[in-house]
Amino acid sequence: MVLVFAESPRGQFKKSAFEAVTYGKKVADALGTSCAALVLGTVQDAGEIGRYGASRVLHVSDAAFDQFDSQSVAAAIAEVAKNNGATVVVLGHTSTGKSVAGRLAVRLDAGLVSGVNSLPSSNGSALRVKKSVFSGKAIAEYEISSAVKVISLMGNAVKPEATGSAVAVETISVASSKGRIRVKSVKTQEGIVPLPEAEIVVSAGRGMKGPENWGMVEDLATTLGATTACSRPVADAHWRPHHEHVGQTGIAIRPNLYIAIGISGAIQHLAGVNNSKVIVVINKDAEAPFFKAADYGVVGDLFEVVPQLNEAFKRFKANS
Ligand SMILES: Cc1cc2nc3c(=O)[nH]c(=O)nc-3n(C[C@H](O)[C@H](O)[C@H](O)COP(=O)(O)OP(=O)(O)OC[C@H]3O[C@@H](n4cnc5c(N)ncnc54)[C@H](O)[C@@H]3O)c2cc1C
Repeated sequence: MVLVFAESPRGQFKKSAFEAVTYGKKVADALGTSCAALVLGTVQDAGEIGRYGASRVLHVSDAAFDQFDSQSVAAAIAEVAKNNGATVVVLGHTSTGKSVAGRLAVRLDAGLVSGVNSLPSSNGSALRVKKSVFSGKAIAEYEISSAVKVISLMGNAVKPEATGSAVAVETISVASSKGRIRVKSVKTQEGIVPLPEAEIVVSAGRGMKGPENWGMVEDLATTLGATTACSRPVADAHWRPHHEHVGQTGIAIRPNLYIAIGISGAIQHLAGVNNSKVIVVINKDAEAPFFKAADYGVVGDLFEVVPQLNEAFKRFKANS
């Protein structure tokens, strides 16, 4: 059986959960086995995850899981995996997934590959998976030969496919949900798609000259339904909040569309964005290194190009 941990912070499944279950179903099909989803904590409609290919939905409804604690979550996934004879466990390569995957692999005595971006191929009882390495400059293939295998799936690596229907939820319990961490308060930003999950990202750099000019970046992002990001010096100078900083030392993203405005395209910036499906670069310097990584480029003054582009998108949306 392939067991997928379906993340559901604040009672809602994350996009990464739909991706992980879609992926888990494909892995299960390839191995000739079934796919089950594990849901922890209070969730509005746990059975919904079945639409993405899980034939069973196992729900530990204990409200103790509403507050995230990597130790108790890892223990719960390991217990359910052992009880159900799971040979592969899949989870999203999210901040939650990253903090759980290693602990889980230790508990299951399993080989772990994190940040996988393609479906595995079989080599006897072993699985081969691929992931980006060296800041996206190379692709490495790993073989997991342990009896139980743990895979964390990179965001946007597969498109969620709602091909099935909701399934009856099996309510189960685990030995302990008690973590040693107490969360005292949680601050969340509402209404904004977090960068790792964003399909469209509008990002800007030092070419913007100062924080007072960011209105045009935000306007363009609003028109496109995009999340905003920035280069590191921009965050370091407090022009933008640090959570927007993408790159080697910031967040690594792989949206469907990345629009880079006034960013030179230094290697450390590219490291976090060059897995984007389509890259559009706007820069007044035709020699800017970013153009080498771009699918589309506009050589021009961003203060003229960005407002024009925004108006063009607005007209396009109004007419379509
Ligand atoms: C260890 C290390 C880690 C790092 N990690 C990161 C990281 O994670 N992320 C990151 O982003 N950087 C990182 N950096 C910094 C990185 O090397 C670059 O310095 C940084 O990315 C440059 O930011 P920028 O492109 O916004 O600014 P600049 O390099 O100053 O480039 C500004 C660009 O704007 C263009 N421009 C200026 N005016 C206009 C205009 N009017 N119209 C159009 N274009 C215009 C210029 O032609 C230029 O290409 C790291 C560096 C080190 C040493």
